[in-house]
Parts: sequence; C-alpha cells; structure tokens
Amino acid sequence: MSPSWKESHGHLPATIDPIQLAERGARLTGTLPLKSMPRLMQTCLEGSDDVSVDLLFERGEGEQVFVMHGTLRVRLRMTCQRCLEGMDRVVEAAPWLLLTRPGSRRDRLDDEPDILVVDKPLPLSALVEDELLLALPMVPTHALNECPAGTYVKQDTAGGGSAEGKKKNPFAALNGLKKTS
Ligand SMILES: [Zn+2]
Repeated sequence: MSPSWKESHGHLPATIDPIQLAERGARLTGTLPLKSMPRLMQTCLEGSDDVSVDLLFERGEGEQVFVMHGTLRVRLRMTCQRCLEGMDRVVEAAPWLLLTRPGSRRDRLDDEPDILVVDKPLPLSALVEDELLLALPMVPTHALNECPAGTYVKQDTAGGGSAEGKKKNPFAALNGLKKTS
C-alpha cells in the first residue's frame, strides 16, 4: 500500500479479550483484511482496501468498567445509487464502547450509548466489522457535483462516420496476397 500507512504493518490478533487488553492499557494498530469481514464485503465492489485499525483499550470510570475507543478506516469501492457507476468512499468509524463482564453492576451507565458485555474472547474482525457497518452510508452516492447522473448533459454522438471511413481495412493487404498466390 501507500508509504503513508507505514504503521499499518502491525500484526493484529485474530481473537481478543477486550477487557484483558483494557486491564493492561493495550493499543492495537494495523490492518485487517477486508475478506475477513464478509458482511462488509457484500456492500462493496472489487478494488476496495483493507481496513486500518487503531484501537485503544483502557480502564473506565467505575469498577469493572472498561473502554474501547479509536478509529477504523477503509476505502470502499461502492456503487453510486444515483448513477450506478463505481465510486470510492472512505468509511470511518470512531467507536466508543464500554466493556463490562456479564453480571457486573452497570449503574450510572444508563446514558451511555454502547455497552459491550464480554463473556468470552471475540474475533477482532467481527468487532471492527460491526462498527464499520454502522458507519456505512445508507444510500451511497457521489457528491452531487461529481455524479454523472447529477450533472447529466446529453452528449452529442455525431462525428464518428468520417474517421471510420479513413481507417485502413487490416485485411485489405491480406486479400491482395491471396490473389497473387
Ligand atoms: Zn453517481
């Protein structure tokens, strides 16, 4: 990939226990293959990138409360729903998840939007995929000024005939050879 993503070469574990990671304040940086995310793959076309991951795992406020946050980023090749042409869309997610063990007290968490109850190690790709699916555009389209259907002007198709007439027939010479043999 491009050299600006140097730090993307980290080896990410396939399976994580996010709470264990949070207990030691871990950070995961690297790329995950798009093909490890079949649901996300269904939404895009060939030529999409792999997923850049930068996630921090930390202790949160309160007993047995942990936090996972960071950024996920992927350039997807999608079909514009206005003109049906391919287009690139960078999808970014900035997850902020509270992590708890099953049965832990969850008081004062009522106004927190995202709580993940972790009872066993889970696949990192599925966690990342879930967050990116939430960040996907509902109806992907080009920006209006970049969309062929948005700025559609009827193209004049005149002018093909004369150029065609001047084209040499590649078989003309061959016919000549046949006649002399
Ligand atoms: Zn379009």
